[in-house]
Formats: sequence, structure tokens, C-alpha cells
Amino acid sequence: MRAKRATFEVQQGMLVRKHAVALVVALVLVGFAASVLWLDPCTGEASGRRSHAGLPLPASAMPPCPSCNVLLITVDTVRADYLECFGAQIETMPSVCALAQRGWSFEHAISPAPATLPALTSLLTGQIISNESLAQRLFFFQNRPYAAQLLQEAGYVTAGIVDHPALGTLEAPGRQSGFLHRGFSQFLNHGDLRATDTGDKVSASAVSFLESHARDKFFLWLHYFGPHFPYAPSAKDARRYGFDETRCGRIGGTATIEELRRLTDSVTQDELACVRNLHRAELYRTDAWIAEVLGALDTLGLSDKTLVVLTGDHGEEFLERGRFGHEATVFEELVHVPFVAVHPKTQGARRVLEPVSTAAVFDIIAGILAQVPLRFDREVLTRTHHDYMDRGTVRMRSEPNSFALYESNLKAVIPKKEEPLVVYDLEQDKGEKRPLAPDAPALGELAARLEAFVSAPVEVSVPENTDLRELLRLDFQRLENLGYFE
Ligand SMILES: [Zn+2]
Repeated sequence: MRAKRATFEVQQGMLVRKHAVALVVALVLVGFAASVLWLDPCTGEASGRRSHAGLPLPASAMPPCPSCNVLLITVDTVRADYLECFGAQIETMPSVCALAQRGWSFEHAISPAPATLPALTSLLTGQIISNESLAQRLFFFQNRPYAAQLLQEAGYVTAGIVDHPALGTLEAPGRQSGFLHRGFSQFLNHGDLRATDTGDKVSASAVSFLESHARDKFFLWLHYFGPHFPYAPSAKDARRYGFDETRCGRIGGTATIEELRRLTDSVTQDELACVRNLHRAELYRTDAWIAEVLGALDTLGLSDKTLVVLTGDHGEEFLERGRFGHEATVFEELVHVPFVAVHPKTQGARRVLEPVSTAAVFDIIAGILAQVPLRFDREVLTRTHHDYMDRGTVRMRSEPNSFALYESNLKAVIPKKEEPLVVYDLEQDKGEKRPLAPDAPALGELAARLEAFVSAPVEVSVPENTDLRELLRLDFQRLENLGYFE
């Protein structure tokens, strides 16, 4: 039977090529009005809380720039509160923070998912869907435009250089995870299941690409896997963050997720501090690799004509709710990530305090071509994986069907299937431990919007006889080897 064409549409990030010019004019006008409310013109700080999902980011702030290059850097497993420029007390990523000083810093950026593949797919397509099976997700995203495709069609040289073992490659058919390689004329995966210190290769390839294409218009996407478990920094970096065999007890210099999970119930405070510091050491090392690429941009004279966007795919939890790792929930430690954008045509630091979805990465990149409106009023949604495990495909450790929706300082959460929705006030309750009373006045409208998202029909048909396990056989193998499945 022929597959029915996907009909599910989300309202965000749809292409409007035909009306680009009119759209830009309209956005400039709307953006001017919005800028009055959004940012303090002197300090660049957000000047007030919004009453609804928000005003668009002033379009004038990030104007189209068809001659600009685009550098997108994604870092695996990085939570915002581990960076000094997002509130941490301990320095981990000085180069990223220096970048934040030069442009837009989104202080409450929310990843669309606490897991690599759905998060990166949303970043590169601007799409978030709610209620789908894994097979539906694959077929849904098959029919969506990817940022690299738009730029490639516009004449950009496009390259993806990653080191996550489960991200797709062009060279090895069957090694594809979703369609993340789409639109990249070069796609290189340095990933190695036995090592997480391959970021040096990502940077070396990136610098080589920049040197070869300094005169071209390019889109370069880099993904650094280093901070992902196992936490295995160099001995030097581990010592820098206080690693000491005596004090760290059962935590070795290489902390695998399996070892950590065995210690879940008995870990001491000192040991837990050591685990966190090993992760910090990996962030520090990754920052140095990123610095090499940013340095090459400067050396080659490309900084002032390159849009640089940097964010994380998800955070990491260190027993905040009794677990190590990620994927399991939509609480802040797993979905609040750094998000920085430096636009060649804007100057100075701008801090945005409102919640913003990192799916807006697509808008920012495509906005270079004036094909997509810069919209930061898109719903700020996140979700764990859906219950595709119910199909008997594979069992993961985490709870499926957890969702969250943000509105200013409020966050509505469905913790897991069949559990009642709760709302947290993040200003009063950063740890998300004390839900507001069910009759709190602010709760109703936000709850209704989240319920509507969760129950939205997903009319994506999957061809009969699709064998998901076979389709993604190698991906599942890799994810299993990384410690994801039961
Ligand atoms: Zn990841």
C-alpha cells in the first residue's frame, strides 16, 4: 500500500519563500515595536516579562545577511548552569563565554528534547512534534526542509563534522540516524564508540575546511561529543578540577555510565563532587577545541562575516532526581542548555531572559536568507521520547511521555504518562520541587496549551511492513553500546 502523504503541520518555522520581501518589511515593523518591550536599549537586558508566549525577537536585531557564512556548533551533554556565563561558580567554558559577550545570549534556552537525535533534528528543522511513534517521527522528518538544504540550494558549500557515533554519515549507507546529514555536501563523523576525546579531530577537520573554503560562502555544522558519558578527561584536566584518587574513592578517572549507575544508592558527597568535576573537565577540554575553530575564523578574517550559533543538545543529571545521565525527564538539569548567537550585523552583548526554544536555531540560520521569520514567540516545548517502546521495538531506561511547556517564569510539566500535569514557578522554585496549587490562577491557560500539544493528532502514515528495528539496526546497536537501553 502506498504511504499517505504526511499531513500534520506545525505552525512554527514554515517556509515562506514567495513572500520573503514582504515578510522582511513586516518583521522589521513588528520587530521595531517589539524591541521597545523586549530589550533595554542601554543594557541589552530583557526589560520585562511577557504575558503570553511572547513577542517576536526584533527582526532588526538579526537582519538577513545572504552574504554571511554560517557556523553552527552544538555541544553534547551541556547544561547551562555548568557554564560561568550562565550562572556557574566554576569556570568551564571561557571561550564560549567570551563568544556570549559578543552577541545574543539566551539565558533560558530549552532544548526540544533531553536526547541527542530528537533535539538535533528539531534544531536543524525548526520542528517539534509531540505525540508520535519513532516510525512516525522518521517519516515526518523525511518530508521537512533542513537548514543545510536551504543553504545548499542558495549556493552555500555545506559541511557537517561530528563525532557522535550514532549520527548519520554519507560514507556508510545504513549508518544513518534520521536525516541529520541532509543538505550537507560533506559529512564527516569522527565518532568512535571506544573514545569520547575525538573533538580534536572535529576541530582539525573544521580548521582545514575553513582554510579551504575561506573564499566560499559556507555553512559548517560541528557537533562535539566529548562531554557525553563516560567522563574521561585527560589526567591534567581532571587534576585541574580537583580529581584526586584518595578523595574520589570509587570514582576512577574514567567514569562510565554503568559504573555510576551501580553507585547510585551509595555514592558519597565527595564522590558525587568528583563525578561532576570530571564532567566539568570535559567541558573545559571541549571549550579549548572550540577555541581552535573560533581562532581560525579570526585568523582567516571570517569573524565579521560569519554568523556563529552555539548551543547544547541536552543537559545531564547528577542524582538531582535519583539518576545519572540524560533522556529521562524534562526537568531543568536536562533541558536548560547554553544558547549563544553572534550575528555579523549586530554589535555588543544582548541578554534574553525569557524562555526560548533552541529549535529557533533553524530560524536564525534560515533567517540569514530571509526565508523564515525570526520568531522567538514559538512555543517553548520539550518532551522525552514517546512510547514507541510500546511497540516492543526497544526498551529504554527512561520514562516516556514526559512533556513541558514554558511561559515566562512558569513551567507546566506532565512528569509521565497517566500522571497529572503540574506547574512550577521557576522564579520561586528553581529545583522544581514544589508545584503550584492546582487552583492557582496562572495555571489554567498554560495547562490547556500543554494538554493541546500532547493530544494533537499526528497524521503521519508509515508504510505497511516497515521494520523499524531493521531500518535502524546499526543505530540501535550503537545506542545500545553507549549504554542507553535496558
Ligand atoms: Zn546528546
